[in-house]
Amino acid sequence: LLNENDFTSTDRVTLTDRRFHHIKNVHKVSLGDTLRVGLLDGFLGEAVVEAISEHEVLLRVNLTEPPVPALPATLILALPRPKMLKRILETVAAMGVKEIYLINSYRVDKSYWSTPWLKPEKVDELFRLGLEQSGDTRLPKLHLRKRFKPFVEDELPAIAADTRALIAHPYNASACPAATDEPTTLAIGPEGGFIAYEVEKLEAIGFTAFHLGRRILRVETAIPATLSRLFPAY
Ligand code: SAM
Repeated sequence: LLNENDFTSTDRVTLTDRRFHHIKNVHKVSLGDTLRVGLLDGFLGEAVVEAISEHEVLLRVNLTEPPVPALPATLILALPRPKMLKRILETVAAMGVKEIYLINSYRVDKSYWSTPWLKPEKVDELFRLGLEQSGDTRLPKLHLRKRFKPFVEDELPAIAADTRALIAHPYNASACPAATDEPTTLAIGPEGGFIAYEVEKLEAIGFTAFHLGRRILRVETAIPATLSRLFPAY
């Protein structure tokens, strides 16, 4: 994933950072090899390796393809434990989610809110890794909401308006709805699940609970499983 300031001329880029090491050590490129690249918030295309040394790589870049469409999903996610959060932020960016609300809920441990993985520079890094993985170029937006009730009562109704509003919830719930491209607001619970009061609050503003089947999945598995079931793009 390239930034405007990586360009040394209109079609030449020099990389010396993490991306250089990735290109060198993971892709193991040689002179003349072609790589897939994208410009942050911009087009996708190809880059030819023009020079590579111990410290940097010089690429000739040709960006001709428009960005891949965003997934029409807003994710409302009870804050997971830090170890999982890290992987989840990368995964949801890779899957094309562009709006993510991390919310508090009764079974979210208060200590999770002080994880360094919520620092803006860390979030940015994880999102970029996700975009690089999947060949997307547009960063998601992350919103932190530490109070469940005011968020659900005052803010969520407008966020969820005119969307399919769904809660992934293993119990007393309907079967998973069919995949469509409809804009969707999807709530996923914490590791211990949403408590009944929280499900009721969400249902009171129009959310419907659904289950994915008889197996209870970890949050990090439930998210990609749910997104793949709800949208035909997967
Ligand atoms: N024992 C917990 C409970 O009581 O809900 C299980 C929570 S599960 C590990 C974490 C979250 O993943 C759930 O709150 C839900 O959003 C989602 N999830 C996991 N398995 C699911 C399933 N089979 N159907 C729907 N959602 C599921």
